[in-house]
Amino acid sequence: MPNEAPTAATAGVDFAELLHTEQARLQAELSELGFADGGGGLNYDSNFADSSQVTAERGEAERLAQELREALDEVDAAIQRLADGTYGNCEVCGKPIGVPRLEAMPAARLCIVDAAKH
Ligand SMILES: [Zn+2]
Repeated sequence: MPNEAPTAATAGVDFAELLHTEQARLQAELSELGFADGGGGLNYDSNFADSSQVTAERGEAERLAQELREALDEVDAAIQRLADGTYGNCEVCGKPIGVPRLEAMPAARLCIVDAAKH
């Protein structure tokens, strides 16, 4: 055991807690953008002076919201894997993902070797 690298199961890290914290953070960011829980997006004043600037800002906000939603999907999927008992295993090679990597990216699906190939 002392020579074995810790895995998600043995590291003594509460990954459920990490994932739920990450989930809450992403939801808060989405809500700041006005996209929380399937909301209709930002409410720009239609009389706002420069409509091309509004369009650009709206596009930027929607792009960011899309990224946040994708990250949230990844976190949801990781929470599901935790429930299924497959959390912490690389989806490509099946080996345990390194604990430092999981601590940095709790929703990681791939080990560092496979992630580098994508
Ligand atoms: Zn792998």
